[in-house]
Amino acid sequence: MQAAATIVRRLVSTRSSRGARCITSVVQDPGIPDFDVKNEPLLGYLAGSQELQQLEAALQKHGSAVADVPIVIGDEEIRTDLVRYQPRPHDHKNPVAKFYHATPEVVQKAIDNSLSVRETWEKVPLAEKIAIFHRAADLMATKYRMDLNATTMLGQSKTIIQAEIDAAAELVDFLRFNAFFAKELCKWQPISEDRSVTKNSMRMRGLEGFVAAVSPFNFTAIGGNLASAPALMGNVVVWKPSDTAVLSNYTAYRILREAGMPPGVINFVPADGPVYGDTVTASPHLAVVNFTGSVPTFQHLWKQVGNNIASYHSFPRLVGECGGKNYHFIHPSADAATVAPATMRSAFEFGGQKCSACSRMYVPRSRWDEIRSRMLDIHKEIRVGDPLKKETFYGAVIDEKAFKRIQSYIEHAKSSPNLEVIAGGGCDSSVGYFVEPTIVVSRDPDERILQEEIFGPVLSVFVYEDGQEAATLEMIGRCPYALTGAVFSQDQAFAEFALEKMKMTCGNFYINDKSTGSVVGQQPFGGGRISGTNDKAGGPHYMLKYCSPQAVKETFVPLTEWKYPYME
Ligand code: NAD
Repeated sequence: MQAAATIVRRLVSTRSSRGARCITSVVQDPGIPDFDVKNEPLLGYLAGSQELQQLEAALQKHGSAVADVPIVIGDEEIRTDLVRYQPRPHDHKNPVAKFYHATPEVVQKAIDNSLSVRETWEKVPLAEKIAIFHRAADLMATKYRMDLNATTMLGQSKTIIQAEIDAAAELVDFLRFNAFFAKELCKWQPISEDRSVTKNSMRMRGLEGFVAAVSPFNFTAIGGNLASAPALMGNVVVWKPSDTAVLSNYTAYRILREAGMPPGVINFVPADGPVYGDTVTASPHLAVVNFTGSVPTFQHLWKQVGNNIASYHSFPRLVGECGGKNYHFIHPSADAATVAPATMRSAFEFGGQKCSACSRMYVPRSRWDEIRSRMLDIHKEIRVGDPLKKETFYGAVIDEKAFKRIQSYIEHAKSSPNLEVIAGGGCDSSVGYFVEPTIVVSRDPDERILQEEIFGPVLSVFVYEDGQEAATLEMIGRCPYALTGAVFSQDQAFAEFALEKMKMTCGNFYINDKSTGSVVGQQPFGGGRISGTNDKAGGPHYMLKYCSPQAVKETFVPLTEWKYPYME
C-alpha cells in the first residue's frame, strides 16, 4: 500500500515542460539507482580453510537430523497426510528431509493466495524488488552459503565443488544478474519527437494471473531462478520443487523470504507432478509455465495448456528448458591433452546429470588410440562414492528410477553386438545409487545410445574415418536435441567451418572447451529443437519473458479537429 501511495504522490507532482500535468513521468523514471554486476567468486575449500570448516559444520547440522519441510502458502505452513521423504541418493535408507505433497485443493489454495497478493506486489516499484533480490543474494553468498551447499550435497549427492558452483554461486549470480538485466530493460524508452507535444513511454508490467514454476532436481540454482525471476518482474509464483531437491530448494525459499519477499509472492508447494500439473493448467489464471526438466514432462504440460486454451484469461507463456544429447566432436588436429580431461569432466561430473553433459563423442580413427588411452588413464583415477569425501569425483545418481534407467542402457550396451563397453559398466544400489563412469563404443552412429538422453554417467563414442569430418558433423546435426555441443580443433579454418555448419544444432556452442559449465552473464543458457524454448536464462533478454510491456502516449496539445486538411 505504501508503494502505491508513493506512485500516486509522484503522479500528482510531475509537470510537463509546457506546464501541463505530465502523468507519464512516472513511467519513464522508475527511480532505480544504477549499479553494476559481477559473478560471485567460487571458494576453494582447501584443507584447513575457513570455508571448509564452515561447510563441515553445516553438513553436520543438516546431516544429523531429518528436516521437516512444510508446504508454505502465504505465511501458513501446511502439512498434509501425504508424507514423503527425500532420501540421500548415496545412502538411500537415510532420509535427509520429510515433506508433504499438496492435494489438488492445496495447490488451488496456493493459486488463490498468490492471486490475492498479485496486484499489490505488481505495484511495488522495481527498485524495491531489486533491493530484496540484492539482500537475498548477499545472504546466500555469506550467512547461508554453507546451508545451501550442505543441503545440496546431502540431498542431491553433489560434491563440494559441484554444490559450490550450483547452489551458492549460480543462484547468487541469477539473483544479481536478473536484477541488473531488469534495471537495464527499463532504460530503453520510445522516441518522443517533440516532448512539448507528445510524450511516449513504456513500462514493464507483471503478467495477469500466476506463474507455475516447475523445477528439476539437478540444480538448486535453477529452482531458485525459476521461482524468483518472474517475481522480480511483478508476478506471483506457485513453485513446485522436485521431490528429490526439496530440502535445498526450501532453503533457498526461506532465504528469499528473510530478504523481504512478501508472503504469497512465491508459494512453496511440493506436490506429485501430475496432481500439480493438472491443477495449474486447469486454472483460467495460468499466465506462465516456467519449466525445466525432461522433454516428455514439458510436452505433457504443453498439451494440457493446448487442451485448455479457450479457458484462459490470457495466452499462457510456455518457458521450457529440457534435455540434451550433447556432443564433443574431435577434429584430427585436436589437442588430445585437452580433449581427454574436458570430455571426462563433461561426461562424468555430477554423474552425467547435467543437461549439458557430453553424452556422445566423435573421434577420428587416426586419434582414437591416443585419446582412448588418455581417457582410460583418467578413468582409473575417478572415485565414485560418498560426495562428502574429498577424493570423490561424483556421488550417486539421484534415485532408483534414474538408477534403473541408466542400468538398462548399460545392459543394452553389454548385450548389443554393435556396442562395446570399454570402461566401467558396474552398478550397485545396495547402499546408494552408484553407477561407474561408463564408456561405450558404438559401431553404428544411429544406435539409440547415441540418440537418446540417458542422463547418467554413460559416454558413447563413435569413431569416424579421417576425411569424413563434414559428413560426420552433418550426421551429428540430425539429432532432435539441440542443447550444447563442442568442437575441438587446432585448425582455425575448420573451427570456423564447424561454427557455421553446426549453427542450429545447439543453443550453447563451445570451441576447444567442454560442453558444460555455462556461467550466468557469460554463456546465457538454453537450447532449441526439443531441448527447449531457448529463453536464455542468465542472459539480458530473459526477464522480458516475464513481463507485459505497456506503451503509453500522452498528448499535451488538444485534438480539436476531426477533419483532415485535404478533405476541405
Ligand atoms: P522431470 O521432467 O522428471 O521433472 C521435472 C519437474 O517436473 C519435477 O519437479 C517433476 O516433479 C515435475 N513433473 C513431473 N510430471 C509432471 C506433470 N505431469 N506436471 C507437472 N510437473 C511434473 O525432470 P528431472 O528428472 O527432474 O530433471 C532432469 C531433466 O531436466 C533432464 O532431461 C535434463 O536434461 C533436464 N534439464 C534441463 C536443463 C536446461 O536448462 N535445459 C537444466 C536442468 C535439467
